[in-house]
Amino acid sequence: MDTQAFYNCHIHTFNEEDIPERFYPKLLMDFLRKESTEELMLNFLRFVHKLEKFFGIDAEEAERYLQFYLVGSQNSQREIFDLCRSSYPPSTKYFVLSMDMQFMGCGDVPRDFRAQLAELSQIDQEQILPFVHIDPRRDGYFDILRDAIEQMGFRGVKLYPPLGVFPHDSRFDSVYQYCIDNNLPIVSHCSPHNPTHFKGSRRELLKLLQNPYFEINPHGLDKKDLCDIFTHPKNYRIVCEKYPELRISLAHYGSDKMWTSWLCHPEDPENWVNIINSMIQEYPNLYTDISYTMYYNVTDCKHNFYKTLKEFLDNENIRRKVLFGSDFYMPASKETDMHYANNIIDAIGEEYFNAIAVENPKQFLNEQIA
Ligand SMILES: [Zn+2]
Repeated sequence: MDTQAFYNCHIHTFNEEDIPERFYPKLLMDFLRKESTEELMLNFLRFVHKLEKFFGIDAEEAERYLQFYLVGSQNSQREIFDLCRSSYPPSTKYFVLSMDMQFMGCGDVPRDFRAQLAELSQIDQEQILPFVHIDPRRDGYFDILRDAIEQMGFRGVKLYPPLGVFPHDSRFDSVYQYCIDNNLPIVSHCSPHNPTHFKGSRRELLKLLQNPYFEINPHGLDKKDLCDIFTHPKNYRIVCEKYPELRISLAHYGSDKMWTSWLCHPEDPENWVNIINSMIQEYPNLYTDISYTMYYNVTDCKHNFYKTLKEFLDNENIRRKVLFGSDFYMPASKETDMHYANNIIDAIGEEYFNAIAVENPKQFLNEQIA
């Protein structure tokens, strides 16, 4: 990698103290504690498979549990950041996205959310652009936003709808206005069936799904399906119409699942990849990022992710709206972020990489050009 200083627009450094106490199923914890950490690391994929087989946890969920357990439980945020930083040139800058998981229906988070933010703000203001996760169910969320931006040097806002909040929730109005007034971008999680979603009761979930914009028919939908209703890219039409100046990135470009289904059914109008491609061209301040999704180059129906990404980027209107990111430390690949970034450069070429990792992030940040 000898391109100019670039941005990784999506990584995480939160640790085990920021994960709610009942996040891991108890049986799984008993199982993990029996194994040595080295054994788990070495045989990662075998354990993912085991978890799937014995606990009925799907592969992505098993991967997430293991990543949180292996990376999140061992390290401070600085140590986690150092693991990531070692994969990139020293000049690289990172959007580090904090997480407030208090309201996902899995019990209390051990440490106070403000302490997570304070720790993150202390790491490295040169390389890190910290994003403050706002969940409007938290008392004083607007004060947290102001303190993070005005006192702690945070540079943007993170939203995570599958935890049980619509992006068009009216409690975000003050947040969106503040972002516009203070030139702040927003990164919002936008992939379906994510392992990190609201895990409280179905009754609570149905209550959270009530909203003034459309009716929900929950019949035949499980909790993960229901959480997709919060996450759906179409919700941002309401936000983009109301706040056209607001800069939002729909993280994960629809997800690897949507990309996999796209490979064989590229015309499907309900596929989130198609919806996002059309929305980012329609709304001047709407973006997407390739984090997590592009980590694995899936092949199907004689097509693959990397070739498809390159073809999408051939369209200049799409190319100006895609951001490079990795979602470190969520992908549980044996390969590091260094391989990942190099794979992406090989797949799309230096010029397109420069667009998604340098020019677009600057545009998204709206940095004043000196
Ligand atoms: Zn993420």
